Amino acid sequence: MSPIVIIGSGLAGYTVAREFRKLDKTTALLIITADDGGFYSKPMLSNAYAQNKQAKDLISQTAEQMAAQVNATLLTKTRVDHIDTAAGKIVTNAGSFEYSKVVIALGAQAIRLPIAGDAAAQVLSVNNIDDYALFREKIMAKGGTVRVAILGAGLIGCEFADDLAGAGHAVTLIDPQPLPLAALAPQAISVGLQDALLKRGIALQLGTTASSINRQSASDALQINLANGSVIHADLVLSAVGLRPKLRMAEASGLRTDRGILIDAYGETSATQVYALGDCAQYQIAENVQQVLPYIAPLMTAARAIARNLMGERSVIDFKHAPVIVKTPSYPVALIAPSAKDAAAGRWETELGEGATISRFFDANNRLSGFGVAPQDARLRARLLAELAGA
Ligand SMILES: Cc1cc2nc3c(=O)[nH]c(=O)nc-3n(C[C@H](O)[C@H](O)[C@H](O)COP(=O)(O)OP(=O)(O)OC[C@H]3O[C@@H](n4cnc5c(N)ncnc54)[C@H](O)[C@@H]3O)c2cc1C
Repeated sequence: MSPIVIIGSGLAGYTVAREFRKLDKTTALLIITADDGGFYSKPMLSNAYAQNKQAKDLISQTAEQMAAQVNATLLTKTRVDHIDTAAGKIVTNAGSFEYSKVVIALGAQAIRLPIAGDAAAQVLSVNNIDDYALFREKIMAKGGTVRVAILGAGLIGCEFADDLAGAGHAVTLIDPQPLPLAALAPQAISVGLQDALLKRGIALQLGTTASSINRQSASDALQINLANGSVIHADLVLSAVGLRPKLRMAEASGLRTDRGILIDAYGETSATQVYALGDCAQYQIAENVQQVLPYIAPLMTAARAIARNLMGERSVIDFKHAPVIVKTPSYPVALIAPSAKDAAAGRWETELGEGATISRFFDANNRLSGFGVAPQDARLRARLLAELAGA
């Protein structure tokens, strides 16, 4: 029988492989990946600098060790072009491979904003371990206190800001929203995070955007002009404005896509026995509600359900128990955010207690369906998850 093929060796691909092996020790697994297949936990990239970690320190297992651990054949440095679903074949730059079932875990790419100026091309982003190696190298090359401007105060931007400021660098965080983490968190938590970042010494430029980035004459420093008229001087600019799911391969395979690869409640794409998860996927989080969720907890939940479905079960992905963790040590946050549709119709209620801000989200039917808590810890998280389970 042809193997089950997993495309991609990020957390999504490897988590499906591990979950599947808990259920089935023998069915052949083939993992095809464009990178070198080394295992690292991607969220560590925005916490690693202050810990003085080099990129190689973050690789916890080599491709060979991973292949042995999940008992799979691993094809590295191999790019999938498309899936020929009619012929049951995966077409790559290293030939075609037959499959019985496929899991797509291709990830996403960093969005690049159109910014004017002669130094706009110097803007960096960190979405994989090679990006981190380059970013770290550039900071180390400057030496001393480095001025870093970060575009985007979402999860990744806030984490980098906290990490770099913790390592003694001078950080400016720029975002069009009036508060950090505004797209994800209730206002009370965003305000708490803002206070914590300010206390950390991070300069905030909120409610504005970078309009141009130019090299300053007679130095290699950069001048960032903001739409609100302010001017910032920085040595490096890091963009954390968001990710775009990788769709080209799915489109070339005739799969249904929207913002991400569309999957149903079981993780299956529009082609039978072809599943998707992780940053490339657009999950069905409720009836007629589809959303990209580029975070760890949803992919873990999806991986467990998809592993069972690869065994022939019909297991629904249940997002109810999957809080997103924001690793800002100054103000650690846990969140189960409502969908955009629910957010418009429901309300947040906030209480202060036990040294934390706790916000609960009630949907249009007055049912508890989300929460935010900060500073979060395992005990508070467990309590809120129990409330949610009982709602
Ligand atoms: C800096 C940073 C910090 C983060 N912090 C947090 C956090 O604190 N909390 C949280 O919940 N989430 C966090 N995230 C998000 C989280 O890390 C991601 O959601 C998750 O790692 C995505 O995993 P993935 O496997 O879907 O994608 P990726 O890790 O991008 O893996 C994609 C894989 O597909 C392969 N691939 C791509 N194209 C092809 C092709 N054509 N053929 C074959 N292979 C291909 C790639 O080589 C790679 O192996 C963070 C992300 C970043 C970048």
